[in-house]
Amino acid sequence: MAEKLPIVKYGADVLREKAEPVAEVTEELRDLAEAMLEAMHKAEGVGLAAEQVGRKEAVCVIDVPEEYDRDKEDLRLNPEVEMPLVLFNPVIVRVSKESESLSEGCLSFPDITGAVRRPKTVDIEYLGVDNRKKTLTLTGFYARAAQHEIDHLNGVLFIDHFSHVKKIAVKNKLKRLADKTRGA
Ligand SMILES: [Zn+2]
Repeated sequence: MAEKLPIVKYGADVLREKAEPVAEVTEELRDLAEAMLEAMHKAEGVGLAAEQVGRKEAVCVIDVPEEYDRDKEDLRLNPEVEMPLVLFNPVIVRVSKESESLSEGCLSFPDITGAVRRPKTVDIEYLGVDNRKKTLTLTGFYARAAQHEIDHLNGVLFIDHFSHVKKIAVKNKLKRLADKTRGA
């Protein structure tokens, strides 16, 4: 049985910490990933990193609905990629020169969204739930979700990528959220 995991909000120190790579995917870590997927689905998110449930292991989960994986002609961008993805020790090993700017949100930031420019395609390496090293090329929304979650594992948050103007615009909202999280 997966335990219920509350999602940590902005203002919690753990969100700025770097995750620790796992030596091996154990049964306990598989349970953690399963509980993370459950918490993410319940919150209607498409990605979640371990820091967002207060944990330090380098693991994130992604489950982007297939309808987001379409180009302008309605063709699948990543037809070989099966969701959900459970990524242990994920790293980005290559990024495309081509980038795009799209609006993002984050379960640790209720009511805050903003445009983030990211490479359109990335190659990632990770350890699968079967303990095997894998490489995956992701493009479009799938690539965006992976970059957002891998950022989390490095203590980087999507607001860090906001434009200068957008950072000023959300400053007070962020402060209120952090104060609320810290119980101030
Ligand atoms: Zn996030």
